[in-house]
Amino acid sequence: MRAEIISVGTELLLGHTVNTDAAHVGRALSALGVDLLQVHTVGDNAGRLEAALREALNCADVVITTGGLGPTDDDMTKETVARVLDAPLEEHEDSLRRLREYFGSRPIGANQLKQAWLPRGSTAFPNNAGTAPGCAVPAKPGQWVILLPGPPSELLPMLEDSVMPFLQHMGGSVIASFMVRTFGIGEGTAALRIGDLTEGANPTVAPYAGDAEMFVRVTAKAENAAAAKELATPVVEAVRERLGDVVYGVNVSGLESVVVEELRKRGQSLATAESCTGGLLAKRITDQPGASEVFGYGLITYANEAKTRLLGVPQGMLARYGAVSPQVARK
Ligand code: ATP
Repeated sequence: MRAEIISVGTELLLGHTVNTDAAHVGRALSALGVDLLQVHTVGDNAGRLEAALREALNCADVVITTGGLGPTDDDMTKETVARVLDAPLEEHEDSLRRLREYFGSRPIGANQLKQAWLPRGSTAFPNNAGTAPGCAVPAKPGQWVILLPGPPSELLPMLEDSVMPFLQHMGGSVIASFMVRTFGIGEGTAALRIGDLTEGANPTVAPYAGDAEMFVRVTAKAENAAAAKELATPVVEAVRERLGDVVYGVNVSGLESVVVEELRKRGQSLATAESCTGGLLAKRITDQPGASEVFGYGLITYANEAKTRLLGVPQGMLARYGAVSPQVARK
């Protein structure tokens, strides 16, 4: 299956907003094994959106638009898609009910109500974080245009809850996806160890550079969930084995969650002493559910005098090695 993304919004062209929606959609598509051919960005301009849509429909099975679904006059994605696909807008009962529920006793203007109108034949995607529903509009047999809202806080849950299952269903297959999370290894070194695995087509193995971490996503596609898992599992094990003890978990939410869980299991506790990080380490730990069971306190000893008085780092050591040194950190 081949896809294209069209991001709509003048703010994207002006550089006021970074196109993170395209990155989120791109990642979701790659996890599903869908080939993303191109990403277009157009301003809030119906003519240019129409041209981009017609071009994308010439080569992609799925065209995904982001933005321009809201209540304001410059939101014209839906109207443009309806015109290009000859699928006039119709009131969508369930979306209208959700919109009324969202507004409760507050008055709803006509511009708000227009959000419950979808191109004929659409499959609606409820918006659990805002007002504008997304939808998938059939273009021709086996071809769809998927419309998603612009705000990432609305787009992301819709992507996970509705769009990915929809695309899986369309592709007639189920995927199993495993994120192997590592700390302490760069992408280059990892590539040397798992390079040959990344050449496979099913499962696919793709490394991602994260924030001071590196992830490897293993994705397998099969007729059902059990078969997909069975395909992926040996490859996940191979990645783990080749990368060794830099792997701290598979499908876990982050290093701090693993640390808290591990301390809990062992009945151990933790205190932190930080300097330049200004409490960041303690914050990451205390953000975890259940952190109160394992975390005692944290000190931010920014000045050398505080390092000596509160942590017992000898003055001589600070003078000799400097505050930012392995010797002082270890002490
Ligand atoms: P709304 O109901 O808020 O009007 P919408 O679907 O009409 O939603 P837009 O009006 O196009 O979306 O954009 C709303 C906001 O969403 C933008 O101001 C911007 O902050 C954010 N946004 C839009 N497109 C993107 C994008 N591609 N990447 C990241 N953020 C985006």
